[in-house]
Amino acid sequence: MAISKQVKQKPKSYLKKAFSNWQAECNSAVLYQAFVKLERSPKQAKLYKQLADLEEKHANYWKNVLVSHNYAIPVFKPRRRTQVLIWLAKRFGLGLVLPQAAKLEQLEAEGYLEQLEPSHIQIDEQASANLLKHLGHEEFNEFVKKIILRIRRPVLLAIGGLLFFTSIATAHNVQIEGLFFGLFTASFFGAVLHYLIGKIIIPLPFGRVWCGWACWTAALLDQLPYKKSAGWLPKKWHYFRYLHFFLSLALVALMVFGFKFRQGGLGQTALFWFLVGNLVYWLVGVILDIRLKDNRAFCKYVCPISLILKQTSRPALLKVSGDASSCLSCKSQACTTLCPMDIDIPAYIKEGKRVLSNECILCLQCVAVCPPNTLEPSFGLDWGGENKLELRKLCPKTLNLKQS
Ligand code: SF4
Ligand code: SF4
Ligand code: SF4
Repeated sequence: MAISKQVKQKPKSYLKKAFSNWQAECNSAVLYQAFVKLERSPKQAKLYKQLADLEEKHANYWKNVLVSHNYAIPVFKPRRRTQVLIWLAKRFGLGLVLPQAAKLEQLEAEGYLEQLEPSHIQIDEQASANLLKHLGHEEFNEFVKKIILRIRRPVLLAIGGLLFFTSIATAHNVQIEGLFFGLFTASFFGAVLHYLIGKIIIPLPFGRVWCGWACWTAALLDQLPYKKSAGWLPKKWHYFRYLHFFLSLALVALMVFGFKFRQGGLGQTALFWFLVGNLVYWLVGVILDIRLKDNRAFCKYVCPISLILKQTSRPALLKVSGDASSCLSCKSQACTTLCPMDIDIPAYIKEGKRVLSNECILCLQCVAVCPPNTLEPSFGLDWGGENKLELRKLCPKTLNLKQS
């Protein structure tokens, strides 16, 4: 009765709206039915089934309205957008499409608000939108985590390779020796620019992302199979990279000021030393990584560049943070097990701090393996350099190197 009364008041626009509502509800029903088939968790699949049934019920409501006014309903065909969403969900998982589905559901709910009736559909649609938003948030987080686990190594290889070959193409020595050479000879191009941007300016807000995502030395070494090390060697080994740093500095100073060597920054000579330097780095890295069964052994004990990065990344705005209440109940400790830099992540979280270690390379492996809603990358203000590191079994459990 209520329906025919409103039809009498504005029959054409009402029927037009009823038809578009019927189409929208059918599309949503088809989409959620596809979600039911794709969802692996039975609990979650049940929720999608409830949503699909609700949308079907709404579609039938509008169908009845249209039929009661002798409106000719065509055979339903899902919209292109629905088809694309289903394809994306099949290809890449629900995590990618749920936020979009939640947005569409919210738009539908708002559309019903404007129509001011029928109220039970308005309420259902808003509830569905809220549920999808919640599921979408969780699934999207999981999707991002899976992506991090899958793409980090290829991305590292791609960016590292690109930068390496750019150095070759421009014949610049952008090894640390190239930097020293540039500074001593006041040739502020190539290496100096590279260090200024990549190792000083970027780490100030974004920490050691260079090491996690762009370094060409690590790009190769990270392809070795030793993703999880047994922990750090004792403290005396940590000074080796300082030795390396100052030996390189002394050697370049001797060449420039002692032997008046002035052609090492750019051109054939620069390229030659860049390649020789890299080969030596890689060779030492491969031997050390295999010997210690740790892909990041070179970064931990040999790389002189890490000394610059350790200082410039201290005030970084981007660090990993966590929720202490969720972390306290976790037994897996998967974060520390998979952290390539052997950082005792829970030790920071339980103290209510972000991961303040300046050995953190922002690879986000810990975020990817941690249970939902516990670890996440975050922006904030704090001073890094407080290192809580996992040591090899022969050492005390945790080494607390304050402000190292
Ligand atoms: S520590 Fe050195 S070798 Fe390792 S990723 Fe950073 S810059 Fe590259
Ligand atoms: S995996 Fe996450 S929840 Fe578990 S100990 Fe690590 S930070 Fe805490
Ligand atoms: S703390 Fe997390 S982001 Fe930092 S190095 Fe370890 S796994 Fe990577």
